Amino acid sequence: MPQHLISCSGGKDSTAVYLLAIESGRPFRAVFADTGNEHELTYEYVARLHERTGGPKVEVVRADFTADLARHRAYLLREWPKQGIPDAIVQEAAALHEPTGNPYLDLCISKGRFPSRMAQFCTGELKEIPITTQVVGPMLRNGPVLQWLGIRAAESRNRAKQPRFNHHESGSMVWRPIFRWSIDQVWEIHKRHGIERNPLYTMGMGRVGCMPCINCRKSELRAIAAQFPEHIERIERWEAVVSASNKRRSATFFPAVTDPTDVDRPGTYSRIRTLVEWSKTGRGGRQYDMFFAQQPGGGCASDLGLCESTDHG
Ligand code: SF4
Repeated sequence: MPQHLISCSGGKDSTAVYLLAIESGRPFRAVFADTGNEHELTYEYVARLHERTGGPKVEVVRADFTADLARHRAYLLREWPKQGIPDAIVQEAAALHEPTGNPYLDLCISKGRFPSRMAQFCTGELKEIPITTQVVGPMLRNGPVLQWLGIRAAESRNRAKQPRFNHHESGSMVWRPIFRWSIDQVWEIHKRHGIERNPLYTMGMGRVGCMPCINCRKSELRAIAAQFPEHIERIERWEAVVSASNKRRSATFFPAVTDPTDVDRPGTYSRIRTLVEWSKTGRGGRQYDMFFAQQPGGGCASDLGLCESTDHG
């Protein structure tokens, strides 16, 4: 008999799968990968899911970049002076290569950049690897593991192409039990169990996950800035820290290019505060329009679908 594992994000689809697992009557474990970039309501929702449902307590895993930070600090102390980088900059960057305890920020400092749609290392480093190494691997030592994923075809064209079952490179099997479900079915199972949806949905968020996600749309950025300005302020602080920890002395959360009509900073990426202001007015910012028009709204490239998307269907 396989051991069953549910990955919970605090979003509606993974909660639906958790509830479905309860209905199945099988014993299972549930795990939440804390990126460090989640909303406090999501932490609360996941932490209390077992109390509200009678299911198992959701275990929390976090990536640890202590070794990566130490390795990169040793590298920059050795190599940057040879590249003519001023000592004050080297020392400042080295001092910032200490673990902060926040996985997302530590990952960005160790990489010297934020993830992006083209280099979406966040899902793998912050979710897939910690879940695989800290939970799936140890479970596999006791026998086969079946991971139940909250992926629905309606979420995106990419997700619609995924199989119902497949092998994962970790050695587990993965199953998408709500693959053909509509959004109504997702809410229906919440109702059946008397479970409120994550409050973020009723506060204007189309999806639950990083706050914000690097893949978010303009409307989501505007909604976050309006309702949760402290999260934008946090990202502003992170931009300053990640900038000071790399030799380019620059790092922006979104790789959105400054409008060419912006004479002050032509051709550079814009910081989140500029994009938030633009998201409120829509004036100018043709480059920003182009960037955000291509944003998928969430989701990840991982076949474990660990980051929620907004529905396309
Ligand atoms: S929710 Fe977005 S930012 Fe967060 S790990 Fe997933 S893809 Fe990356």
